[in-house]
Amino acid sequence: QVQRALLALTIPLEMLQAVKGRMLQDMRKGLSRQTHAQANMRMLPTYICSTPDGTEKGDLLVVELCQTHVRTLWMTLLGDGNRSPQATNKIFDMPADIMKGTGEALFDFIAQCVRQFLAGISRPQHRLPLGFVFPFSCRQTRLDKAELISWSKGFSCSDVEGKDVVQLLQSAINKQELSHVDVVALMNDTVGTMMTCSTVEKPCEVALVIDKGTNSCFMAEAQQVEMAEETSGRMCVNTEWGCFGDDGSLSDIMTPYDQRVDQESSNPGQKRFEKLVGSLYLGEIVRHALTSLAAEKALFVGSSVTVLGTKGVLKTQQVLEIIDNEEGMAKARKALEDVGLRPSERDCCRVQQICRVVVSRAAALCAAGLAAILSHMCQSRELEQLVVSVGVDGELFRGHTRFGEILQSVTGLLAPECMATFLPSVDGTGRGAAMVTAVALRLAAHRREVDQLLAPLRLSRADLERVQALMRQEMDLGLGRESHANASVRMLPTYVRGTPDGTERGEFLALDLGGTNFRVLVVRVAQDGIRMASEIYVIPTAVMQGTGEALFDHIIECIMDFQLKQDLMEQVLPLGFTFSFPCQQLGLDKAVLLSWTKGFSASGCVGQDVVQLLREAAQRKQHLALKVVAVVNDTVGTMMSCGYDDPKCEIGLIVGTGTNACYMEEMQNVGTVEGEQGRMCINMEWGAFGDNGCLDDIFTDFDRLVDEKTINAGKQRFEKLISGMYLGEIVRHILLALVEKQLLFCGKPCPKLQTKDIFKTKFLSTIEIDGLALRQVRAILQDLELQASFEDSVLVREVCQTVSLRAAHLCAAGLAAVVEKMRENRGLARLAVTVGVDGTLYKMHPHFSQHLQQMLQDLAPNCTVTFLQSEDGSGKGAALVAAVACRGAEP
Ligand code: ADP
Ligand code: MG
Repeated sequence: QVQRALLALTIPLEMLQAVKGRMLQDMRKGLSRQTHAQANMRMLPTYICSTPDGTEKGDLLVVELCQTHVRTLWMTLLGDGNRSPQATNKIFDMPADIMKGTGEALFDFIAQCVRQFLAGISRPQHRLPLGFVFPFSCRQTRLDKAELISWSKGFSCSDVEGKDVVQLLQSAINKQELSHVDVVALMNDTVGTMMTCSTVEKPCEVALVIDKGTNSCFMAEAQQVEMAEETSGRMCVNTEWGCFGDDGSLSDIMTPYDQRVDQESSNPGQKRFEKLVGSLYLGEIVRHALTSLAAEKALFVGSSVTVLGTKGVLKTQQVLEIIDNEEGMAKARKALEDVGLRPSERDCCRVQQICRVVVSRAAALCAAGLAAILSHMCQSRELEQLVVSVGVDGELFRGHTRFGEILQSVTGLLAPECMATFLPSVDGTGRGAAMVTAVALRLAAHRREVDQLLAPLRLSRADLERVQALMRQEMDLGLGRESHANASVRMLPTYVRGTPDGTERGEFLALDLGGTNFRVLVVRVAQDGIRMASEIYVIPTAVMQGTGEALFDHIIECIMDFQLKQDLMEQVLPLGFTFSFPCQQLGLDKAVLLSWTKGFSASGCVGQDVVQLLREAAQRKQHLALKVVAVVNDTVGTMMSCGYDDPKCEIGLIVGTGTNACYMEEMQNVGTVEGEQGRMCINMEWGAFGDNGCLDDIFTDFDRLVDEKTINAGKQRFEKLISGMYLGEIVRHILLALVEKQLLFCGKPCPKLQTKDIFKTKFLSTIEIDGLALRQVRAILQDLELQASFEDSVLVREVCQTVSLRAAHLCAAGLAAVVEKMRENRGLARLAVTVGVDGTLYKMHPHFSQHLQQMLQDLAPNCTVTFLQSEDGSGKGAALVAAVACRGAEP
């Protein structure tokens, strides 16, 4: 019978594994917004997002509400890595009736303790931050805002549940005329333990409290804590794991003794896990086991056992003494005799065995819970191995090596991928609470400075509306015959009067010049669709910025090479030339370059017809079989290629190296071209928007720094806020400013970050991917020789997000002006239109397109705008323009 009892109280490893699995499931349930309400484990966000970094400094006050007393603590941190915190503390016994009295009386009592404590320390009355340790389940919405969900541990003060306990404490403190004391942080005791065990070198990221009750907390990836609005970094989550099993998921390991303990408790059916683990219950589990065994005549034969019917006769403390290897037997005898039993030697031995399995089981269950937490952390950080420190507090762990040994070894078996170092908490939760408070203050100050620095980059809705209105104004100026010369948005006619109708046929050559790559293509437009072959050619910077002759010679050489490779030397194919720089177009095949952009500056080209320059180069190179029929801008090519698939596509947009847009305008509005009938595609050249100073107030110092270092300073101002050539540079300058202000990388100088263009715009795409483990952000930064802490990574991501969000929103403001103008032109209440888009930034950035589309909808609510990504628009589009032109030319 004793064997049977022992067996029932022993949980085999496979079962522990299963318990771990269920715990993991429950954790996920508690973290998810959808299932949170039904979860047993509440996984409460604590709004503690950082561990100490050693720079914390100043005087701090902590008040801790405990089971029978209130503890106050004063701590002075010197900013020296928290090596020598000076602390004094005082314990105030709490009258028993307070626990069950009014909430007001409780908080008044706590505030009085604070006043008495401060009276004993003569300090100047400067502002004093206070951290409040409140070991009950709270629904926290900020570090200093926490509603009590429900009382436990014998407390039941009136008028507190559902209220903000920070507020209640602050009011009570104010009543004591201590208004210089600010309650800045509230935390649970587990969080205090975690922070107490944390050092600068070795942050502690998990804590267990195994005391009368049990609970745990850990640093979770913030984005998985769906109940909090944080998406970056980590946040400490209070698991409230004592409630694990309340849905019956532990019933297969609960013994009849556990059932009885539960029934006799003040909260039957609740806190199932806690009742298997907490020291409030271990003595009781043993008592019920002994009672049963005595009833079955397996123990204490011949002596009266009625005394075992009394709740609490066997204390957990005694159970823990009995399991001791050396003195345990003597302790067992003494404990049993103390309650009036007359145990035999064998009884004592068996009682010791029972006590051992009960304690071992508690330790093993804790281990299963801890293993679940560790595995969860390891998985969500996408690590193969997790190395972590676990702070532990509570009498079960502190005084009893056996408990600790089992906890550690079983954790190792159940989560072999995690290496946990266990740190017993030496001075309780108070020190940790002071740290949390100090960290909160440090972060708040840090946050204020970061916000101040980034504020100019955060455009309000009103700012964007103004940009939209200005864009509209510039568009009208650019279209007007008289005003055209003074407009920053040039609104260039393209002589493209219609989008494809699908009847275009033929074989064409196409060139794509004006971005990162120069390409030559052959495009076959047939009944069954468009087929293309292309080749990328490099244009060396020396050629981009050398003479025009050299540039166009190089282009002809590339064409010849391509024709050779494609076996096209013998044919004279019509050629469409995508030339993505601002041109004054005088016909479909005549385009005078107005200015270079995007890093080009070849001499002798501005003011010349680029088709002519191409033809001249062909002559020089003896390449006589070249028939240029159309010059198009890449925006136009993009619109045309998307228009081939979607007839509603009447806007082209590029967000790549540069940014630009085109759209179909009514001929009667185009003052710069004769004729009133039909429409013509207008190449806006919106990259130059703002070059006349109209956007000066939204440019930041960072934008000015970027602009100064470009080869076209003061030009293409709108483009320099939006496109791929510049976003990385803007980020780089912001990072430098943050370092300078000691807000990033501990203020350490970063020589490599001084290099122009070292921070690529594609880094923004990688860094901003949702759910990307921050260690990958770190890896990117490491390549730049930047040693980023966890917080540094979070801040770098925030900078990237700010810069790309602004770019997307500005782009939306520009497009809003376009679609609204088109809607007005056509006298429609609603306009449905498609935008053909190209550009690597638009296509690859994880959020740019979504932010652009959302803001556009917001700014132009009467337009339904669909976005269609173009597949190789500049190549295909040039061919389609050529095809349309050829078709028109034929008799
Ligand atoms: P172009 O506009 O010159 O025709 P692209 O559309 O390919 O060429 O755009 C190139 C630009 O895209 C580069 O300036 C680069 O900064 C940016 N870029 C490249 N890769 C990415 C990426 N993964 N995410 C965001 N931007 C990128
Ligand atoms: Mg391009």
